[in-house]
Amino acid sequence: MATNWGSLLQDEQQLEELARQAVDRALAEGVLLRTSQEPTSSEVVSYAPFTLFPSLVPSALLEQAYAVQMDFNLLVDAVSQNAAFLEQTLSSTIKQDDFTARLFHIHKQVLKEGIAQTVFLGLNRSDYMFQRSTDGSPALKQIEINTISASFGGLASRTPAVHRHVLSVLSKTKEAGKILSNNPSKGLALGIAKAWELYGSTNAVVLLIAQEKERNIFDQRAIENELLARNIHVIRRTFEDISEKGSLDQDRRLFVDGQEIAVVYFRDGYMPRQYSLQNWEARLLLERSCAAKCPDIATQLAGTKKVQQELSRPGMLEMLLPGQPEAVARLRATFAGLYSLDMGEEGDQAIAKALAAPSRFVLKPQREGGGNNLYGEEMVQALKQLKDSEERASYILMEKIEPEPFENCLLRPGSPAQVVQCISELGIFGVYVRQEKTLVMNKHVGHLLRTKAIEHADGGVAAGVAVLDNPYPV
Ligand code: ADP
Ligand code: MG
Repeated sequence: MATNWGSLLQDEQQLEELARQAVDRALAEGVLLRTSQEPTSSEVVSYAPFTLFPSLVPSALLEQAYAVQMDFNLLVDAVSQNAAFLEQTLSSTIKQDDFTARLFHIHKQVLKEGIAQTVFLGLNRSDYMFQRSTDGSPALKQIEINTISASFGGLASRTPAVHRHVLSVLSKTKEAGKILSNNPSKGLALGIAKAWELYGSTNAVVLLIAQEKERNIFDQRAIENELLARNIHVIRRTFEDISEKGSLDQDRRLFVDGQEIAVVYFRDGYMPRQYSLQNWEARLLLERSCAAKCPDIATQLAGTKKVQQELSRPGMLEMLLPGQPEAVARLRATFAGLYSLDMGEEGDQAIAKALAAPSRFVLKPQREGGGNNLYGEEMVQALKQLKDSEERASYILMEKIEPEPFENCLLRPGSPAQVVQCISELGIFGVYVRQEKTLVMNKHVGHLLRTKAIEHADGGVAAGVAVLDNPYPV
């Protein structure tokens, strides 16, 4: 994709002035992060990194991503309710991957006891890149779906004003008007509010499971603020707090510091290093409760890379979404090549293909949060080492998406404005609420565009690689 900001990106002096204006506007709008030096304090904060200009995205692909979001919501929800599918899909992975195994064992334990929860809340974000095809036209391909702690809905609600500002300074009023309004934090809060309401106790509150050191707190506050505006109170606690002060009554209602909890919203608990033994016990306690967990443990498992890979097998979507051929077709159109590395002929063939053309594949472990995937020479070394070991079942192989690079200017605290070759990743936020077997809400609630320099293979905004952006529809 060519950009129409081309000549603007050449004028260094103008870029500097625009960058100053953009940064001030970002700070004024609340596009904020705590600093890495003081991750527990809001005394000193800075702006979250962002692009100086919005990046061009074909309208058709934006529309396609929005149109398939409700299907993804249905699919994740169907997977989470299908214990047999989860067990079968993850059986080889959990023998090799301790983190997935621990999640899975909590899932089994709660199933055995009987699930107390009756209201289910999904807040997810499906991420895509734009694969350039041989005829030059880009295609929407899913990178992954995040079913736990999907972030940046709050800050993404505040970046459109910044890009409109930049374009207005340049007297590009018409262009400024094309920047889409976006308010995922409101939509995510409406989902939480619905689950809270269905839980049915006006005195109950929302529990946000927070990390001790949280640089991205303003993103979370945006959702908390929306809830408070609806008279729904949010308390922030860590897993440690829950293990000390959380309890269940005889009906498995959850109480923390004497307050009943209607909804548990996890912004922690998606990486192994976030769990001490004590934290695992707290997670089990939360999972056993009748509060609506976002996500419940089955939904977290539905977001693993292994599940994503198995869903791409012929017949799987049809089995999970019977009688919905149109949804199945929309979903499948977004799938890139995904390959199992389980022991056996199929896995052997996948490894041979990747070793023969390493630049066309990505090796992924069952991890979230960026920076875990292997590419190029590193992938080759890992595959050679894993080839004859059962351990390979803890990974999947994925086709590497190669978008057409474009130029933009990246702004980061402490670094000079930098014009570089970039690629973008589009995320769509999805919200659904189910009570027992009845779906009472299913929608998309906004988008997130993240852009990074092409030299970085992996990593998002929190990992310090990508920056916030807005799609400029063309
Ligand atoms: P995580 O759960 O750690 O966020 P992802 O699957 O989203 O894992 O991968 C992290 C990053 O790696 C993505 O944001 C993207 O930039 C890059 N990436 C992942 N899969 C692919 C792929 N198939 N092709 C190209 N880049 C990819
Ligand atoms: Mg990701």
